[in-house]
Amino acid sequence: MSFTTCAMVGLLAISVWLHWMGNTNSATSALVAAAMVAISMVVWRYGGGLLWGGLLYQVTLMSVILYNAAITGGVASPVMTWLAIIPLLPLFIASRQWAIGSMCVSLFSVIALYFIQSHGLLPSVVEQGSFALQSAGDEPSHGDTSWQSMSFAAGMFSLMLFAQMILVQTYDTANEQHLRRLRQSNKRLETLSNNLKTANAHKDQFLAMVSHEMRTPLNAVMGYLGLLSSDAQLPQAAGQYVQGARNSASHLLTVINDLLDFSQIQQGKLVLSPQAVNLKDMLASTHQTLSPRANDQGLAYPLELDESLPTWASIDPHRLAQIIINLLGNALKFTTEGHVIMRVSFDADLENAKHGQLSISVTDSGRGIAPESLDAIFKPFVQLKISDNDLKAGNALHGNGLGLAITRSLVQSHKGTISVSSTLGLGSTFTVKLPIEEIAPPANRNISSAVTHPAVLDLLVVDDHLTNRLVASATIKRSLPNATIDQAVNGTEALEKMRRHRYDVVLMDLIMPDISGTEVVRRIQNDITHPYKDVPVIALTANVAEEAVNECMALGFKDVLPKPFDREVLVNAILTHAMKDEAHPAAL
Ligand code: ADP
Repeated sequence: MSFTTCAMVGLLAISVWLHWMGNTNSATSALVAAAMVAISMVVWRYGGGLLWGGLLYQVTLMSVILYNAAITGGVASPVMTWLAIIPLLPLFIASRQWAIGSMCVSLFSVIALYFIQSHGLLPSVVEQGSFALQSAGDEPSHGDTSWQSMSFAAGMFSLMLFAQMILVQTYDTANEQHLRRLRQSNKRLETLSNNLKTANAHKDQFLAMVSHEMRTPLNAVMGYLGLLSSDAQLPQAAGQYVQGARNSASHLLTVINDLLDFSQIQQGKLVLSPQAVNLKDMLASTHQTLSPRANDQGLAYPLELDESLPTWASIDPHRLAQIIINLLGNALKFTTEGHVIMRVSFDADLENAKHGQLSISVTDSGRGIAPESLDAIFKPFVQLKISDNDLKAGNALHGNGLGLAITRSLVQSHKGTISVSSTLGLGSTFTVKLPIEEIAPPANRNISSAVTHPAVLDLLVVDDHLTNRLVASATIKRSLPNATIDQAVNGTEALEKMRRHRYDVVLMDLIMPDISGTEVVRRIQNDITHPYKDVPVIALTANVAEEAVNECMALGFKDVLPKPFDREVLVNAILTHAMKDEAHPAAL
């Protein structure tokens, strides 16, 4: 459209110019051509489309050129140059066939003009002041043009058109080659991308597998150590060794969890599960988790909870705890003396007081961070240079450089922000702001996690690893001394037992050599009749990927707990689901 508009404006300008020069016929023809071009635009836009608009445009331009050539010297007229240029237009706006067709029409017009002129049929309409090639005579007239110069001009013009055709063809061939190369490189890229996708999928499977394989023995190690450490008869020295072993095991678990979380974040699979949380309790118990470490280091470790904090809020407690533990863990790691203070406050929104920003800040008096490194520390696998003092303190051993990258992703997935201010040698403050919603206390409260609970429950633990079964049974027995715990060594045995006996709760491992835990639940729900099919089943799995968890919940599992399990969490889950089960209320 813009090109045609330019042509129209150009024709109008030429018309004015020719008129000023006294070439009235040429000026009129340019004016008529401008009008025809305008009509062709209207046809193109509102009528026959590109085909008819383009045809009218092309015919108009060729006619005006031929007419002007005829009145300014025939084939030898300089106007003929335009006849060679016009066919190039369809090359860009239409197809190759149109361009070749136009060139042929141009060629045919020149030959026709040549014959008309050489047979003296061209009327003598050459204007005064025209640009026609002139013969030796004073008056410019086609009749005076010699036969040789006419033939030479027509020949040159034909050659020019021929050269143009070859150029178009060469351009086509070059284009085709270029396209072929592009297609080849696209194909290579596609293969590479498919290979990468496959490799990535293998990496995920590998990670899930390795994490499962590592968590399973770690589950046993942590379970036994937990049981040992709660043994009152343990000598003091042995208690310390057990504590050391527990710390290392829990550090190993953090590393495995970090790697798994990082992989999930990378794949965009991290999904939040907000639930009703008693905020103050949750913050206090999370803060308390690292209090033994702060005590060991001789650091002041206060928690300042603002009065403005809502009691109940809707938030993902697991992820919030992960954010806080990461920040507190870092603060303790990089502080040798002084304090690590955690302050939490709530700023209600002006429009809706139930919504607001939860602000958690962790301030330490540690080694601080240089201003130029403040951005870098949030990148994965970035660890700043360790000083000799830190090396001596063994701090270099604890960390994989993923903590803050994961923390920032977790904060962002809550639609929150994280910032840091720090002075080298004086300490740092990390501040996290998360939007939260205050909610009413839930009607059905969780059963409190007393050390022992008198509930008389009938439980089944299904796991193909003997140690896992023993650890789970011993752990449950510690908190629920009146529980009867049956065991199944695989899916088949679990199915048999669940067909014959209605348990209060079944704890099911997911990966087993014969039938998977999910398949067992599917068969129970499809094949077995009431009341056996309604048994609450809790999955115990080392694969806590969000997808796997959602799949289990969709299948009908009542809960999915990660391995190694936390005693309180496990016992609470058992009590909750046993109590909810109205058909078979647990004897409490
Ligand atoms: P790491 O597992 O190494 O702690 P992070 O991602 O948690 O990994 O932290 C990255 C780096 O940021 C750390 O190695 C440390 O150099 C620096 N850093 C983080 N928190 C603090 C802090 N509170 N004080 C000083 N340096 C810190």
